[in-house]
Amino acid sequence: MTSLHNNLFGLTLQELSDFAERIGEKRYRGKQLFDWIYAKDASSFAEMTSLAKSFRELLEQHASLERVEIVQRQRSHGDATTKFLVKLHDGLHVESVLIPPRLAFRGHEADHEEEQRRLTLCISSQAGCALDCKFCATATMGFLRNLTVGEIVGQVMQVRREAHRPITNIVFMGMGEPMMNFDNVMKAVDILTTGLNIAARRITVSTAGRADKIRLMAESGCKAKLAVSLHSAVDETRTMLMPINKKFNLAELMSALEYYHAKTRKRVTYEYIFFGGVNDSDYEVAQLVKLARRVPCKVNIIPFHSIAFTGVGGLGASLKPSTRMNAIADRLRAAHLSVFVRSSAGEDIDAACGQLAVKTEEEYARQVRLSTRRSGSTIPV
Ligand code: SF4
Repeated sequence: MTSLHNNLFGLTLQELSDFAERIGEKRYRGKQLFDWIYAKDASSFAEMTSLAKSFRELLEQHASLERVEIVQRQRSHGDATTKFLVKLHDGLHVESVLIPPRLAFRGHEADHEEEQRRLTLCISSQAGCALDCKFCATATMGFLRNLTVGEIVGQVMQVRREAHRPITNIVFMGMGEPMMNFDNVMKAVDILTTGLNIAARRITVSTAGRADKIRLMAESGCKAKLAVSLHSAVDETRTMLMPINKKFNLAELMSALEYYHAKTRKRVTYEYIFFGGVNDSDYEVAQLVKLARRVPCKVNIIPFHSIAFTGVGGLGASLKPSTRMNAIADRLRAAHLSVFVRSSAGEDIDAACGQLAVKTEEEYARQVRLSTRRSGSTIPV
């Protein structure tokens, strides 16, 4: 792959206008480039036929349009969720997951919830992750690096080409902690909304609890939705499941969320997995009810997904699903909380929540062969 020098893919409108100026052109050329790159999805400068030939020649000399590449696809034979292995510019890989409509929720939420009509793409913001949440496969990879803006936006644009229909919702719930790549994630949200025309209210940034960055997001004017992986409203339990709670405990997290709500007037989504014998006691649920009353919110209950395939040890290996999940959902509803029970999407291809961990391309190819043999299906989205 060629060098990233002056790679225009991933630049914001402001940055493209600055670039145009740097090479001696008028700033409005930046807007033309922005439209060609994102709205019109041009792969080369030659395709940008509304630009003067001399300008296109200048671009050929000074710039490139380098995107990430989808190198493998794996489709769930159970529910048509598709996992994409995405190759980055330096040869590292991340995963993105396309979740078809009517799969986000189950039960009566699936009948009524508007999100059921949406095509959702779950994208990664980092290669690996440093946060070591005990239920998460990505944590077993360690942290490799932050993704660039182009690598984040590129996941959406490359998958969109293969999906042959509009991706309506984006969730930053793939690999990595988006708030630890804050600037690039915010720029990517800007491009997704202004360049790809995806409404900010259909984009969700999910954090494990970086209270400092929640405050920054509140101040940034970013209109994307905020989700917090909560998993316990008791400090001791949460620290055990999510070591980040040592640095940003529940008091700090809630103070940041109150600030966020005061600034944005938006409600927060709490993501919650109930683990048997860990966070599903009556006391834990009572604490959750208390905490959830502090800021307008909804609670998304995510089914347990095994990460045994990573060979994880310690607490991660001993976690098991709670048998009380539905009873807890009812109890939360009885406390007048807004509760949704999410479906398991793509568990058979290790694409469900918490299961993303990059394998080699060879290992992917082996899994694709196996799942195709099992289902008799081909891979296209
Ligand atoms: S759940 Fe998110 S923040 Fe926690 S280790 Fe996994 S990728 Fe990182």
